[in-house]
Amino acid sequence: MAADKLKERRRNGRSVGDVLRGELARYERFTHLVSEQPDTPISTCSYRSYVNKRVCGPNWLMVGEAASLPDPLTANGVTAAFRHAQDATEAIRASVRRGSLTKRQQQVYTANVCGMGHAFNHSIEKTVYEWPVRRSLNPQAAQRVYTAFSYSINAMYSKFRPQARLPMALFGLLLHLWWVWMEGWALAGRFTFYRRQSRLRQGRSKGELASKAGS
Ligand SMILES: Cc1cc2nc3c(=O)[nH]c(=O)nc-3n(C[C@H](O)[C@H](O)[C@H](O)COP(=O)(O)OP(=O)(O)OC[C@H]3O[C@@H](n4cnc5c(N)ncnc54)[C@H](O)[C@@H]3O)c2cc1C
Repeated sequence: MAADKLKERRRNGRSVGDVLRGELARYERFTHLVSEQPDTPISTCSYRSYVNKRVCGPNWLMVGEAASLPDPLTANGVTAAFRHAQDATEAIRASVRRGSLTKRQQQVYTANVCGMGHAFNHSIEKTVYEWPVRRSLNPQAAQRVYTAFSYSINAMYSKFRPQARLPMALFGLLLHLWWVWMEGWALAGRFTFYRRQSRLRQGRSKGELASKAGS
């Protein structure tokens, strides 16, 4: 069920249990189960991907989902966890003698973990959860737009390992370009939707005129 439909029913005063039972009752194989167990307790939880603002300090680093939880649809949690682990290990090795991470090391680690975390979550939200790309173009297009981004950015990160100032600046620019790529597709989706709507309206008014002329 689409989230907006559930929200609408909740606004109309129905509980989550009512909505769930109502939906299940539409299917023959569930109807008797629903009527036999009208008071089944229902547990709910909300799911939210996140990227922590602070992922390291002078003597600590967060890696994997503790640092940044990618949306499950990105299928990128393991890759991100390995990437964090590799970056964190390098940072620790480089600071063993000193005994703590420098400000610069902390900035580099934070920029990479947070930049990639936000980029992945934004891309899946734009292409899959929001309607313009998924509904106006189609789910396959949404999937291609996302995978074009995710495969390329993971490969580029592994190849260029943005740690020094220039590679980091270039990589930051690249992330911004990918951001524009997602927004561009979302805009194309909206444009396609409104053009389709206006064609439908035109078609309808032409049909009405023709039927009036006929009568
Ligand atoms: C159903 C499902 C499907 C997924 N599919 C994919 C996929 O297709 N591709 C992909 O890339 N990712 C996928 N992921 C995400 C991926 O599994 C995670 O992003 C990844 O495992 C995160 O690694 P992690 O090391 O951060 O955390 P985890 O793998 O969760 O490791 C954390 C470990 O810490 C332990 N732990 C927790 N608290 C304590 C404590 N207090 N003391 C000691 N130990 C503790 C836990 O037992 C666990 O072993 C999926 C996840 C799920 C749940």
